[in-house]
Amino acid sequence: MEAESGFIDHEQVRTLARTRRPKAIVCGSIAYPRHIDYAFFREVADEVGAYLVADAAHPIGLVAGRAAPNPVPYADIVCATTHKVLRGPRGGMILCRAELAERVDRAVFPFTQGGAQMHTIAAKAVAFGEAATPAFVAYAHQVVANARVLAARLAAEGLVVTTGGTDTHLITADPAPLGVDGRTARGRLAAAGLVLDCCALPHGDARGLRLGTAAVTTQGMGEAEMARIAKLLAGVLRGVTETVRAREEVRELAGGFPPYPR
Ligand SMILES: *Cc1c(COP(=O)(O)O)cnc(C)c1O
Repeated sequence: MEAESGFIDHEQVRTLARTRRPKAIVCGSIAYPRHIDYAFFREVADEVGAYLVADAAHPIGLVAGRAAPNPVPYADIVCATTHKVLRGPRGGMILCRAELAERVDRAVFPFTQGGAQMHTIAAKAVAFGEAATPAFVAYAHQVVANARVLAARLAAEGLVVTTGGTDTHLITADPAPLGVDGRTARGRLAAAGLVLDCCALPHGDARGLRLGTAAVTTQGMGEAEMARIAKLLAGVLRGVTETVRAREEVRELAGGFPPYPR
């Protein structure tokens, strides 16, 4: 990681691989807002004779919607969740090269998985079916468009956005310039009805904020609502918007975008 910008330091990755000679290299993250350069990781893995495992838990929904690069042509194994941007039931999936299938199957069952849950398997089939539709492509692209606007608006409000923006559904940001650390900010925002998560930042020990746009996009929100959310969030953190007042505004905003339209 480059300490200042938060971008992956590719030369450091190459040096680490050359010195440690790992059997497998895992690329993927819980809080990286930029695309992963799978071709680069493939090149490094080949150089040191390692398997390449892509943990695409977060971006796989964007991959399905053609809004992020596909790890499948590059990685020996691709792991992903079905319950994040892919918008299915809680669960996972593993794709791998045919010659690894037997070993992967054996590692999953009986070692880590019990009996099959048929209702979850059925729900995964529905999610995969939905992910193959033009509507899902539109959703994935809107998720990214919303995240870009939200990142830009948060930066304009004074938060330090990691890497200066996002390519994905995800944003991490340091609220310190507004006078609060991430943990305090999360508590204050939750009280106001704005629910988000804390995460590590590329520099220092302070916690940052981690936001994603998949859920609000599914509700039907667009760029205009992202601007409203950024303004509301900054107002709460600066202490210029009272919690009660913010809660009312959140209720009013969310009320216009019911998750299950009647
Ligand atoms: C979410 C996630 C997983 C899976 O974790 P769950 O607790 O099952 O949701 C694995 N890897 C990464 C990078 C993730 O973000």
